[in-house]
Amino acid sequence: METIYLDNNATTKVDPEVLEAMLPFFKEEYGNPSSMHLKGGEVAASLRQARLSLAALIGCEPHEIVYTSCGTESDNAAIWSALRTQPDKKHLVTSKVEHSAIINNAAFLRRLGYRVTEVGVDRLGRLDMEELTRSLTPDTALVTILWANNETGVLFPVEEIGALCRERGITFHTDAVQAVGKIPIDLKNLKIDMLALSGHKLHAPKGIGALYVRHGLKFAPFMIGGHQENGRRGGTENVPYIVGLGKAAELALARLPEENGRVRAMRDRLEEGLLRIPSTMVNGDREFRLPNTTNISFEYVEGESILFHLSHAGICASSGSACTSGSLEPSHVLRAMGVPFTAAHGSIRLSLAITNTEAEIDKALGIFPGVIKKLRDLSPFWKDGAPALDNALLTCDTSCQVCN
Ligand SMILES: *Cc1c(COP(=O)(O)O)cnc(C)c1O
Repeated sequence: METIYLDNNATTKVDPEVLEAMLPFFKEEYGNPSSMHLKGGEVAASLRQARLSLAALIGCEPHEIVYTSCGTESDNAAIWSALRTQPDKKHLVTSKVEHSAIINNAAFLRRLGYRVTEVGVDRLGRLDMEELTRSLTPDTALVTILWANNETGVLFPVEEIGALCRERGITFHTDAVQAVGKIPIDLKNLKIDMLALSGHKLHAPKGIGALYVRHGLKFAPFMIGGHQENGRRGGTENVPYIVGLGKAAELALARLPEENGRVRAMRDRLEEGLLRIPSTMVNGDREFRLPNTTNISFEYVEGESILFHLSHAGICASSGSACTSGSLEPSHVLRAMGVPFTAAHGSIRLSLAITNTEAEIDKALGIFPGVIKKLRDLSPFWKDGAPALDNALLTCDTSCQVCN
């Protein structure tokens, strides 16, 4: 069976050109870029080229990039550097809708005695800027806020947040793992101190990430070791993957118009088509959003059941973040947005990429109505094509935090 992969926010397919660019570094180009000899020199040159390509994608200087093993490491490195370079400050500001790479760090820091403010969002998933502004104090070491939400695609106003932080001398880190490669990014013109990105979300392989560290920002390495990355991340560079990320960055920069044209149009067509199914809604701000993502609720059905049936029909989708799925609890993102539980439970995320085709969207639009109908026919809350009970009467699983 041919699969229709609509889970590109979880991970993307490695681009054939990326793989091609990497292969020599598993074969003849095996030198250590730190070596002074010929074999090291040629690899060091390729590394410099890759760094230039990635810098071009995000509009920074090549020396402002620190390679890491993944987006999660980049987030960890940013948080720990901000805390270690400002040991007197014990307050951290983040949002309620971050990726687990940030959320679970925040929880850990709380246990270590830090004060953590998690700024809320409104019904459309937009950040409460007033609450954010109010939360900033002289004790605040770091503001860490997502650029693009991985579950809904909603974009946060990082330009404004950066300006607020800079005025107050507070370090601002953004987890831009979902934003890089999907929207234009020009760090030269933004007041962002650190930015995390990950290769496998933009058609490079899993296991390579980067952290942008603004020139002049004090930085304490997360991985203490050799002089690699200007002493900011020890360990021999993952050369093939860094080269792959460089190629992926080149391709992403060239394909930004396609991402915001063809991919956006496919996402919109898919979304419009699915909204024709009754009792269906989009979660999140449809305007200020990534071009590839839609988060849709099919009320009165269980998201996990939808995914199961879709998977049988060859469609790969996801409920919220891959890191939290596997639990039947609605995602923390939809909970923070106040999505009613009848909708939160039936939500799924569809995320496209340039690898998707119009034919796949047609096929998906043909499969969805039958899947939703089949599940609603089994649902006690649905009769004869409409909800069968007043929403207020419904309660779900007792362990679910939406109802309890
Ligand atoms: C995927 C993702 C991460 C984690 O990146 P990895 O490279 O898988 O560690 C962090 N933040 C966001 C928003 C993501 O979507």
